[in-house]
Amino acid sequence: MPNVLSLSDLPPRPIPSPDQDSAFFWDGLRAHEFKVQECLDCGKRRFPPMPTCPFCAGRESRIVEPTGRGTVYSWVVVHHAFHPAFKADLPYIVATIDLEGGGRIAARVDTPGAELVIGQGVRAGYLDHGDWTELRFTVAPVNRV
Ligand SMILES: [Zn+2]
Repeated sequence: MPNVLSLSDLPPRPIPSPDQDSAFFWDGLRAHEFKVQECLDCGKRRFPPMPTCPFCAGRESRIVEPTGRGTVYSWVVVHHAFHPAFKADLPYIVATIDLEGGGRIAARVDTPGAELVIGQGVRAGYLDHGDWTELRFTVAPVNRV
C-alpha cells in the first residue's frame, strides 16, 4: 500500500506558549486584533514580542495596532515540514513583511500561486485553530499613499 498521509494520522500541531511578554499578542489575535510593541524611546515597532527594544535597548513600550497591510520584504517556500503536523500544508510560504507604519514581522502568506514577489502587498488575516489564532497574511494590492 502506498504511503498515503491522512489528516487523522498527523500528530497535533504545536501551539503557542504565551508568556508575560507575548500574551498581549496572542490574546489580541484571539480577538482578531493585530498588536505589536512600539518602543517609547526610539519609536520603532518590534516583533516578536520582547521585554527590551532590539534597536536602542529601551525598556518602555506601548502596544499599537498596525493597519494589517504590508509589503513582502523576503520570502521562502517551505517544502520540508519542520514538524510532522505540517506535512499536509506543504508547500507553503513564510515571508518577512514590512508593516505599513513600520515594523517587520514573519508569518505565513496564503497565495493564489506558488510564489510571491518582493514588494508584493499583503494583508493580515486571522486563522482560528482550536484554542489559538494564527496571524495569516494573504496577497493584496499595495496601499500607496
Ligand atoms: Zn527603541
